[in-house]
Amino acid sequence: MTTYVYDFAQGNKDQKDLLGGKGANLAEMTNLGLPVPPGFTITTEACRAFLEHGSEPGDLAAEVSKHLARLEEAMGRRLGDPTDPLLVSVRSGAKHSMPGMMDTVLNIGLNDESVHGLASQSDDERFAMDSYRRLLQMFGATVLGIEDEVFSTELDELKRRKDTTADLDLDVDDLRELVSAFKKAIEEHAGRPFPQDPREQMDLAVRAVFDSWNTPRAVLYRRQEQIAEDGGTAVNIQAMVFGNRGMTSGSGVAFTRDPASGAQGVYGDYLQNAQGEDVVAGIRNTVSLADLGEIDQKSHDELLGIMQTLEEHYRDMCDIEFTIELGKLWMLQTRVGKRTPEAAFRIAADMVGEGLIDLDEALGRVNGAQLAQLMFPRFDESAERTLLARGMNASPGAAVGKAVFDWATAVEWADRGEDVILVRKETSPDDLHGMVVAKGILTSRGGKTSHAAVVARGMGRTCVCGAEALDVDVREARFTVRDGKTIHEGDVISIDGTTGEVFDGAVPVAASHVVQYFEGQQVDDPAVSAVARLMEHADSKRRLLVRTNADTAEDAARARRFGAQGIGLCRTEHMFLGERRELVENLIVADDEAGQRKALDALLPLQRQDFIEILEAMDGLPVTIRLIDPPLHEFLPDFTELSVAMALADTRGHRKKRQRKLLEAVRRLHEQNPMLGLRGVRLGIVIPGLFTMQARAILEAAAARVRDGGDPHPEIMIPLVASVRELEIVKQRIVDVAREVRDETGVDLSFSIGTMIELPRAALTADKIAAAAEFFSFGTNDLTQMTWGFSRDDVEAAFFGAYLDQGIFPVSPFESLDTEGVGSLVRTAAARGREARPDLHLGICGEHGGDPASIHFFDEVGLDYVSCSPFRVPVARLEAGRSSV
Ligand code: ADP
Ligand code: MG
Ligand code: MG
Repeated sequence: MTTYVYDFAQGNKDQKDLLGGKGANLAEMTNLGLPVPPGFTITTEACRAFLEHGSEPGDLAAEVSKHLARLEEAMGRRLGDPTDPLLVSVRSGAKHSMPGMMDTVLNIGLNDESVHGLASQSDDERFAMDSYRRLLQMFGATVLGIEDEVFSTELDELKRRKDTTADLDLDVDDLRELVSAFKKAIEEHAGRPFPQDPREQMDLAVRAVFDSWNTPRAVLYRRQEQIAEDGGTAVNIQAMVFGNRGMTSGSGVAFTRDPASGAQGVYGDYLQNAQGEDVVAGIRNTVSLADLGEIDQKSHDELLGIMQTLEEHYRDMCDIEFTIELGKLWMLQTRVGKRTPEAAFRIAADMVGEGLIDLDEALGRVNGAQLAQLMFPRFDESAERTLLARGMNASPGAAVGKAVFDWATAVEWADRGEDVILVRKETSPDDLHGMVVAKGILTSRGGKTSHAAVVARGMGRTCVCGAEALDVDVREARFTVRDGKTIHEGDVISIDGTTGEVFDGAVPVAASHVVQYFEGQQVDDPAVSAVARLMEHADSKRRLLVRTNADTAEDAARARRFGAQGIGLCRTEHMFLGERRELVENLIVADDEAGQRKALDALLPLQRQDFIEILEAMDGLPVTIRLIDPPLHEFLPDFTELSVAMALADTRGHRKKRQRKLLEAVRRLHEQNPMLGLRGVRLGIVIPGLFTMQARAILEAAAARVRDGGDPHPEIMIPLVASVRELEIVKQRIVDVAREVRDETGVDLSFSIGTMIELPRAALTADKIAAAAEFFSFGTNDLTQMTWGFSRDDVEAAFFGAYLDQGIFPVSPFESLDTEGVGSLVRTAAARGREARPDLHLGICGEHGGDPASIHFFDEVGLDYVSCSPFRVPVARLEAGRSSV
């Protein structure tokens, strides 16, 4: 028989699949002996059964009764007892935390009678009424599905009549009035009275939590965060403790380190006389933990002690939720806290220094995506700028965009390609759509633990929150700054999530500190030191080498500063563009071999110079140069343009004749599907001179480098080979050229000849091809196109959206390698190639060389190196290191 319910004392932190994150950690804290109100957890399995069958599994009710009875016994109170009621919270909690996405109901067990019991037991009628009105409001909204506006309007109305803005100014009579207004509203909107039976309240709340797994906002959040759809949520039922019992009570949230910068030292927000959700909702402004020390020294010290215990136990930064009831501290939640990329590096490195974790573990706690984020630009500190306001630095980055004030406008404007900043008083889960598309998020209320901050950090979106100087008027779509300046919808603003500053207009952006560090500059920033430390460890651990894709000496030099260990792909085609285009045209329209020769002779010295510069920038390191790959028509003018130009121009004689020939060539070389046409090695077969010219340019450049005291390591790479015969033919010609160059220059070069593996046939016959190739480089862009039959330029806009939505693949196979299909070809080719030639050198030079998940795969299948764009080189180094620990 399946067990669906566990007491907190029965679980532990490793049971997140079954008990959800919240339940597992409540269990862990209970077993650590921390002050946790007792309770029990209904498993995710029960939720899955409920969602599948539309009703609770048969034994659930009985199991809940058993655990409830035990809880009642422990507390010495019965749920909803009219004279001395036990009250409970019913709390959602899935495996992965989804802040504010699902439902929680507090104060279950109150009704028209037990509210008096609570009042007399606590000797505080105001508190009892306040708890009841909260139950009605939460239950009405989350369980009965009534718009929260219905309740908040009543509340606002009452406050207006009392001429106050603070909940705390409402007295017991006001709250009593609110209770009856809420009950009436429930009956009106739900078509049923508020259930007075405590157990019915509890059961309905449990159901509502199960159902909240599938609310649209929860579904959207999961898609955004790539959380599986089928997990379900657990439900925690826990004895209530009360933060709303006057000024010696309160609720708070805290982090054991700053989740934005990673700096050591606790960080938190506390609100007196409040129940938990008040804190995150930003209803009143909170005070800091230091202030809590002034208010209640004993609880403060105990809290700090517990935070230290938790950090040492979890060996990581934790975030926690706590409540103080009449001076007694209670722990209501903990988990390993979400953090910014900057904080992730800093916390990991600091914890190594503190002896909490070792370097391998630290490396496991950061990733390439986070490093990539740290390489984003920041605002240029020397640029002129007008500060509008200052808020909390909730999630780093530099965002510039037009101010919008509601999520729908954000989505609409972003859809038409505008950069927008979503500005709100505070955000709620309803704003999620807008937060996803915005460049940045700005709020006037709430701290680093507010909804806006938590969600923005999770998404890696820039966020400034709690900019109190802003008076945000959502209805009028504008905000006013205290000194009078007004920003309307559509005005451009800039927000700095690293400093919390808000600027008028567009502030220019500058390179990130981490990039400056990689560039070799001195930067004084703790996050940079942390990155340096972990990069060093990654480098010491990794087996994979990291090269770069670079076509210019400049890119090569930068990549080398970023740690590239050579060039894995130097494309030569762009060397034929610009002014050199005409020379290529001459080659194509040449009437005879002499004409071709002449055109090639003109190209040779230019190419040679390109290669000299690149080999110099990568002196001592391997440089793989790919011979020309794209179809020739790409170097010719557009057919229509050329026809028009010819019709318009009154050119005569030689010029006219050339144009006519060009037009003829354009027609002749036009292809229906150029991706599968005359390109790559096929060009080398039909226009041999082009390949031999390039080979000569490479080898002469290398010889020149040697004569200048350099140490060149050229590798000549033939693209788009399908059959070993193609390779053999081209290779023989290159070998002949090499002999000529040796005789002419007197320099005995060492170089290698290899091929790309980018056609399925090549992968499948890799053993044969390896006989003629000294190295393979997997061209995973083409290999993906050819294996899926996708032409990249045509499919992405046309139907990838539908494919992603329907889960045909979780991420574009052009972004992250399809390890199952394309990866199987890579694995096969690597194995067959190495069988035929054990010292075969293997690398990858497609887009995937800089993609974290793909890098781990390439490491696993035993490639020697990955090659990626210069900016991804550090990311690849880090991921290759992570792959080894
Ligand atoms: P979320 O997952 O959205 O954070 P929680 O289940 O953590 O929702 O509940 C929100 C807040 O409600 C908690 O942070 C806490 O302050 C309050 N709360 C939940 N259960 C209890 C309880 N048993 N006693 C007092 N407060 C509670
Ligand atoms: Mg919580
Ligand atoms: Mg290719």
